Amino acid sequence: MAYDYDPENVFAKILRGEIPNDTVLETEHSLAFRDIAPQTPTHVLVIPKGPYVSYDHFALEATEAEIVDFTRTIGAICKMMGVQPSEGGGGFRMISNAGEDAIQEVPHLHFHILAGRPLGRILTPA
Ligand code: AMP
Repeated sequence: MAYDYDPENVFAKILRGEIPNDTVLETEHSLAFRDIAPQTPTHVLVIPKGPYVSYDHFALEATEAEIVDFTRTIGAICKMMGVQPSEGGGGFRMISNAGEDAIQEVPHLHFHILAGRPLGRILTPA
């Protein structure tokens, strides 16, 4: 089944400049901005500018330039936020929810970069 991208999702509106965002970094193919309802002291969302619903969509259909840019942007954000364990930061967690079971609220690929406090275990037993 083909991926069905909804151009009216909130991140598409941010990319078109129709609603504001708190940008941390913008590159040719990616945008990083602060989550409107932060769950941790550092909570940044990184999105590709292209119309990809989820990470599997992006991984299968994005161009190599988009993939490299997106990956490097995530690295740059970790550096800018000072969370890299190798540099004395406390570390971070990166989450990308996809679809119903993961409770993806916005159907435009995004990675959450979460940091700034102990984060606990990622999942609890069902
Ligand atoms: P998810 O459940 O993984 O789809 O996460 C969606 C995230 O987008 C949530 O953490 C929201 O707080 C965040 N969010 C929704 N609208 C905005 C917005 N206008 N600006 C920044 N973050 C937003």
